[in-house]
Amino acid sequence: MSRPDVDVAILGGGCAGLSLAARLAGGSLSFTVIEPRGGYEDDRTWSFWRMASDPFQDCVRRRWSCWTIAGPRGITRRSSDHLSYQTVSAGAFYQRAGDMIDESRNGSLRLSCAAGDVMRHGNGWRVETDAGSLDAATLIDTRPTTRQPSYGQFFLGREIRTDRAVFDPETVPLMHFRPARSMGVDFVYILPFAADHALVEVTSFAPVSPGIEVFETWLDGEIDALEAGAVEIVKTEKGALPMEVGYGGSTADGRIRMGLSGGAARPSTGYAFARIQQQADRIVADLRAGEPPRPALDSAMTRFMDRVFLQVLRRHPERGAALFQSLFHRAPADRLERFLSGSTAATDRLAVMTALPPLPFMRAALLPA
Ligand SMILES: Cc1cc2nc3c(=O)[nH]c(=O)nc-3n(C[C@H](O)[C@H](O)[C@H](O)COP(=O)(O)OP(=O)(O)OC[C@H]3O[C@@H](n4cnc5c(N)ncnc54)[C@H](O)[C@@H]3O)c2cc1C
Repeated sequence: MSRPDVDVAILGGGCAGLSLAARLAGGSLSFTVIEPRGGYEDDRTWSFWRMASDPFQDCVRRRWSCWTIAGPRGITRRSSDHLSYQTVSAGAFYQRAGDMIDESRNGSLRLSCAAGDVMRHGNGWRVETDAGSLDAATLIDTRPTTRQPSYGQFFLGREIRTDRAVFDPETVPLMHFRPARSMGVDFVYILPFAADHALVEVTSFAPVSPGIEVFETWLDGEIDALEAGAVEIVKTEKGALPMEVGYGGSTADGRIRMGLSGGAARPSTGYAFARIQQQADRIVADLRAGEPPRPALDSAMTRFMDRVFLQVLRRHPERGAALFQSLFHRAPADRLERFLSGSTAATDRLAVMTALPPLPFMRAALLPA
């Protein structure tokens, strides 16, 4: 093959594509990000427990060291001296990644340009785009897949400002369980930015979304119940995230996938941001070492645990609230949060395993996958 146009073509300039590009910027490998959007909006917030540094630490909007779960046992409160729950604003993230690419001599971000067919070309890849074809030695595909996952996290949220001070700005209500609205496990999640300013989100872990009407009515009810006086809606966000072991991953033609379509969402929770950062670190380390990138994150044991956990949620959604609360109640400080954020340490995994009630999990483990 003649010399490719770039060392690395990154299809999709969302969270995963830009996380990878930010790490490649300023290095020796040339890269191009292909993104159909003409520009970026502050369209979401990403929250996670930070375990490692990444190029987006300046984009953190707020940090909390306390979080609560409300379920059959009442309120379970957890806090940490070492880990904080952090929120990154997408607007600041996109800006930072864009600046890093602009300042680099080795990379570019092509906006208003969609990638189409991808084929092998010599030892590398050819991508057809709106602006012609692009040849690359390595191809990283972060475009969404069309495949519906068999289970997912569905949510609708509104960032609101209220007349009255109704939120505790120091504590995140992480999972406050509610009676079933979906065929799964339903809860409210609040990110309190100030006493009169928060993101309030209604969420279902379920095989299918309960639908936008159900979510709208439920969210209206949750906001009314705050008795906060006049409410100004600053913005809304909604999503559908895969919760499925083995979702995404590599393709039949050997293309490397990353981000949600590359299995970055933790199957048992849908958390993806911290794991996308891990994937980006791994891929860059492999590329710099001249190795084929290996974006897979989970060990066989972690995949087994996630599969069994999802099996229990699927078969016994009525037990979901008690299961999650039991986890947060019994798991030693930080271990569960680290596990949920993508820790692969055996000690974290073991702490989570021993915090779960054994019987339903033994039964689920014996069922076929
Ligand atoms: C509203 C919302 C809130 C979330 N909150 C959290 C959270 O709090 N914590 C957490 O851990 N995770 C969260 N997630 C999950 C996850 O972190 C995000 O979905 C994240 O954006 C996934 O990154 P990604 O790069 O895989 O996908 P995206 O960020 O969606 O990027 C995919 C990119 O591919 C582009 N694309 C599409 N078609 C083409 C094409 N033909 N050619 C080239 N590019 C194409 C898209 O325009 C997009 O930019 C949230 C998700 C949503 C939707």
